[in-house]
Amino acid sequence: MSWLPCGYKWRKVAKLFRKAKPKLTIEVQPSPKVPLRPHNSTCKVKSPPSHIIMMLPRRGTSCWFAISDGHGYLLEGFAKELSESRYQWVAARKHIRAAEHFLHWIAHRKLSITSVEKRCAQQFLDHLKRCCCRGHHPPLKPHRQKYSVDLWFAYLRRGGIVTTPSPAEPATETPLLATFCDWMRQQRGVSDTTLSIYRFELRAFLMELGEDPRMYDARNLRQFVLHKSRHSGWASTRKSICAIRMFLRFLIAQGRCPASLYASIPSFAHWRLSALPRYLQPDQVEKIIASADPKTPIGSRNRAIFLLLARLGFRAGDVVRLRFSDLDWKEGMIRVSGKGRRETVLPLSQEVGDALAAYIKDHRPPAETDAVFVRASAPYRAFTESTAISIMVARAMRRVGLSCPKPGAAHVLRHSVASSMLRGGVSLQEIAAVLRHRSLLTTEIYAKVDVVTLRQIAQPWPEVKTC
Ligand SMILES: [Zn+2]
Repeated sequence: MSWLPCGYKWRKVAKLFRKAKPKLTIEVQPSPKVPLRPHNSTCKVKSPPSHIIMMLPRRGTSCWFAISDGHGYLLEGFAKELSESRYQWVAARKHIRAAEHFLHWIAHRKLSITSVEKRCAQQFLDHLKRCCCRGHHPPLKPHRQKYSVDLWFAYLRRGGIVTTPSPAEPATETPLLATFCDWMRQQRGVSDTTLSIYRFELRAFLMELGEDPRMYDARNLRQFVLHKSRHSGWASTRKSICAIRMFLRFLIAQGRCPASLYASIPSFAHWRLSALPRYLQPDQVEKIIASADPKTPIGSRNRAIFLLLARLGFRAGDVVRLRFSDLDWKEGMIRVSGKGRRETVLPLSQEVGDALAAYIKDHRPPAETDAVFVRASAPYRAFTESTAISIMVARAMRRVGLSCPKPGAAHVLRHSVASSMLRGGVSLQEIAAVLRHRSLLTTEIYAKVDVVTLRQIAQPWPEVKTC
């Protein structure tokens, strides 16, 4: 060891030797049609080879076992599915390693792959908490472990290896609730979004009062509503009251409860226009838009979304529902599918159009959906909830140092469009047209935030001398 520099510790020497040891690689050839590659050229991850390479830290680990024991085809099929769902190489490799770890674990317990059941997923997750398998390093965060295991089990289930139903499958609807939903669709043409809200509220109602309408009376109906109002906010209680009233209408129409019960549901006291809409100053809105870097895929998408919210007053739900067929590039128009299936066509400004075109042309990953905006990480699916859009806005607000409301951050940008239009001298009728309000009464609330105009008509306070 005379060649070592003075002061070298033995631990460091051992490290040097470990580094010098060549790593063993195993190659599993996937289908030649679907090479495992990042989705586009801007991806920072190094372009992987067209076959899966699992780097093994030491000889004799379980992956060697998985391949030699004939389970390699499962890993290959799993890798192929991940590739088709366009998972990035780094993420796909973690999921494949988790699957391979699972195969090692069942082999250690002397279980065959055909005897795997859904409860094995939870047992394996429990094992990961105290795992000391040689050569395996499960992710420290439990939600990452669960995600990999869920993906693997979904694959096994599709392959017919695990036949027990998924625990995530929704519980079947009660017959009464299912009949109510059918009635609402046929008689009132209610959208699926509204029905899902009603269903959520009515599940709690049916759990509390039971499914037999003969047991309902004015007393227990009132008690349920009062209890709800004590433990929930105004908006939630109002939704619950709406759902119960509609449910009672259905029962009355079916002759299953007396008509007098409808009047027993109390109304919730609320004063119109009592709150002030939260809005931002124009320079704050510009800061939020500028916080999205148009050169990156996520930044380009977010910029287009922020511009739709801040320039055209889109609701978060309008962004989620935007489809390619809604964009008319020739005429420079955009169709908005607003609340209650009301469609409006708005002019597409140059700025918004450019941002949309840049995202669609250069940064939108190829996805099997006609939704304009899709998730930035695999699997590339359309957004299903408007909450995702609000989270994007809330993050941008925090980035530029603005406080943001917890739910509905995206709506703040819509309020900001209205208030800046009002300050610019636009009439309430025109603002109502842009915001697609059905009634002018809804737009009236913005008159309260036009402080400059209000100051002109404000009367002096009697006890204070005017200057
Ligand atoms: Zn383990």
